Amino acid sequence: MQYYSLNHQSPKVTFKEAAIQGQAPDRGLYFPEVLPAAEADLLKNIGSLSEEEIAFRVIRPYVGTSIPEETLFEIVSQTVNFPFPLKPVTDRIASLELFHGPTLAFKDVGARFMSRCLGYFLSGEQKEVTVLVATSGDTGGAVASGFYDVEGVQVVILYPKDRVSPVQEKQLTALGKNITALEVAGSFDDCQRLVKQAFTDEDIRAKRFLTSANSINVARWLPQQFYYFFAYKQWADKTLAPVVTVPSGNFGNICAGLLAKAGGLPLGHFIAACNANDVVPAFLQTEDWKPKKAVATLSNAMDVGDPSNFVRIMELFDQQFLKLKDNLSAASISDADTIATIQTVFQETGYTLDPHGAVAYRALEQYLNGHPGEKGLILETAHPVKFPDAVKQATGADVVIPEILQELMLQPKQAVELQPDYAAFKEYLTNG
Ligand SMILES: *Cc1c(COP(=O)(O)O)cnc(C)c1O
Repeated sequence: MQYYSLNHQSPKVTFKEAAIQGQAPDRGLYFPEVLPAAEADLLKNIGSLSEEEIAFRVIRPYVGTSIPEETLFEIVSQTVNFPFPLKPVTDRIASLELFHGPTLAFKDVGARFMSRCLGYFLSGEQKEVTVLVATSGDTGGAVASGFYDVEGVQVVILYPKDRVSPVQEKQLTALGKNITALEVAGSFDDCQRLVKQAFTDEDIRAKRFLTSANSINVARWLPQQFYYFFAYKQWADKTLAPVVTVPSGNFGNICAGLLAKAGGLPLGHFIAACNANDVVPAFLQTEDWKPKKAVATLSNAMDVGDPSNFVRIMELFDQQFLKLKDNLSAASISDADTIATIQTVFQETGYTLDPHGAVAYRALEQYLNGHPGEKGLILETAHPVKFPDAVKQATGADVVIPEILQELMLQPKQAVELQPDYAAFKEYLTNG
C-alpha cells in the first residue's frame, strides 16, 4: 500500500514512511492510494470473530508489507485489549462506549497502535525518535499512556499550567520513564507555537529526530476504523443499517468511519455532531469553507476551528460536494442543549452521557425525528467522570470514579516547569 499527499507535491510513501513522517514534506496529509474492500467473510462471520481478529483483518491491507503479519497481530492485540460495548439507551438509540481504555477516552486506540508501530520501526535502529505533543488535555494523556515504556521513543508533552483538569494532569505527569511533561506557564496556543517552531528548527533536528503524534498521522487515524466494525458486530438487526453519529472536532474519527463504510461496511447515514464550533455544519449548508477561531465549550475536545482531517473526507467523496451531502449530515449543538440532553437522558433512561456523547445524542435525536423508520448509534468518546462538573450539574449525581483513576490520582506529579519562551524550550530539547 502506498500513500499520496493531498497536496500532490511530494512522492508517494509506504505506511512505514507515512507513520514516521506524520505529514508529507509538502505539508499535505497522507491518503491511501487504494481503498481496500472489507473481506466478504469478515462481514459475514463478524459475530463469531474476536476484536483482535477483526482489527487485524481491517488494518492489514493498509499496513501492507511495512510490518510482518505476526508482529502486526501482536500490535493489534495490545491495541484493543479492553471492551467496546454497544449499550442500548432507548429502543432507537444505542451508545458505543469507547472510554474503557487506560485514559478513558477514545484516543487510546489510535495512540496505542501508533506507538507500537513506531516502536517496531525503530527497534534495531540507532536513532531515537522524539515525539513532541502540545495538549489541551486528552491527546497528551492518550499519547503518554500509549507510548509509555516504548523502546527508542522519547515523548515530550507540553501542557498549559493550571489549565488542564486534575485528572488530565495526572495522566500527563505521573508516568515518568520515557515520558516528560513540560508545564508551560502560558496557554495551549503558547504550547502549540513552541512545538511548531521546534519542528522547523534545524539545530534541534540535527540532534533529535522529531515526529508528531496528532491525528493527522495515518497510524493514529486508520485504526479508528475498528470502532465501526465493533459497532456493526454488536448491532442486532443486520437488515436495518444504523445511522452513525460521531462527536467531531478534528474530524479524524468520523473520517475513519466513512472510510470503513467506503470499504463495504454496511452502515447507514453518517452525522457529524459538533458543538458551537460549526465550520462543517455551516459548510454543508453553504458550500463555503470558513475556518474560525475556536470557541470554548463543555465538550472541549471538539473545540476546533479549522478541522484538519476534513480534506480527507472530501477526498473520499472525490472532492464532490453533492456526493458528500448525500452521505453526511452535520449539526451544531449548544452547551445549553448539551446539559439538557445529559439531564433528560439520565432521567428517562438512567444512562449517563458525557458532554461529547450528549452532543452526538442530541444530533441523532433530531435526525431520527425526521426519519421515523430508522435507528442509530452514537460513539460515546469519553467517560463521564472526565467531566464531573457538567455531569453533576445536569444529573445532580456524582459520577463513580473507576478504579484505574483512583490509583493514578495517588501517584506523584513529575513535571519540568517552563516559561513560554522559545529559547528556553530549545535549550531543553538540545541540551536536556
Ligand atoms: C478528540 C476527541 C473528539 C473529537 O475527535 P476528532 O477525531 O478530532 O473529530 C471527540 N471526543 C473526545 C472525548 C475527544 O477526545
